[in-house]
Amino acid sequence: MYVPTDVPDRCPACDCPYESVSRHTGGFSVNLLDNERYQRVCFYPTSDEEESPALDCYHHTHAEAGVDGSAGRGVDGGDTPSAER
Ligand SMILES: [Zn+2]
Repeated sequence: MYVPTDVPDRCPACDCPYESVSRHTGGFSVNLLDNERYQRVCFYPTSDEEESPALDCYHHTHAEAGVDGSAGRGVDGGDTPSAER
């Protein structure tokens, strides 16, 4: 992983502020299901110093993504309506 310095002030994908950015040239996985710190990661195509394809990953905290801490919203499950008839 590489941390680029030539990045914009706001995420180029969603135009929100972000906490950190990392650049990846290989395959990788992102799992935010259990992540308390980040609400969203946006991906934006770029290239590395050798002009090879790369992805910049913009990490948004919950506050930066506009979701202020309220966990739930169906993401954690457990509140599915069951009265079908
Ligand atoms: Zn974004």
